[in-house]
Amino acid sequence: MSDHDLSSDPRWRRLWERPWRCNSCGDEHHGIFDLAWGKPAQFPGPEELAPNSALDLDGDFLSEDFCVLEGEHFFVRAVLELPIIGGGDEQFGYGVWTTLSRENFQHYVAAFDSGEQDGMGPWFGWFSNRLHGYPDTLNLKCTVHLNSGRQRPQIELAPTEHPLAVEQRLGVTFDRVLELYAINGHDIRRSLTD
Ligand SMILES: [Zn+2]
Repeated sequence: MSDHDLSSDPRWRRLWERPWRCNSCGDEHHGIFDLAWGKPAQFPGPEELAPNSALDLDGDFLSEDFCVLEGEHFFVRAVLELPIIGGGDEQFGYGVWTTLSRENFQHYVAAFDSGEQDGMGPWFGWFSNRLHGYPDTLNLKCTVHLNSGRQRPQIELAPTEHPLAVEQRLGVTFDRVLELYAINGHDIRRSLTD
């Protein structure tokens, strides 16, 4: 991995060395952290989370993992990972939402508590968030891969020329990761040089 190996980048080493207080959001961060969206872009209500067990398929519903809109649109919380160039196995993760068909959604929900989702999927979905720093990302086509053990499903974007899909295929540089954090309210660039 020669040229791009981040272990020689002092900012990357600082990132993992010890936690720091974020100048932008005030929270403590350590290492690479996910950026999460609490609901699909289409869901109009506030982010008031019901328990998963209260799931209602016929109206509007939002919990940490499931969302239903007007009894017609079904969403699950998933992750979209971008490989970090030179960062070994580290991925930059977005906690985001995707649609599923009603049928697949019901399969997913039924298996959710047991965590036994082996052999399910992959399924088709429409990407359901607008990410900052890209042309509109809402309704990009994706494939939803299920994981066992209660891990969130993983989104694989269709192989288009959309910049987000390109970044998922080719990876992002550490500078781009820092830019994405800054765009999303965590400008950590100064913290990494202290
Ligand atoms: Zn922050």
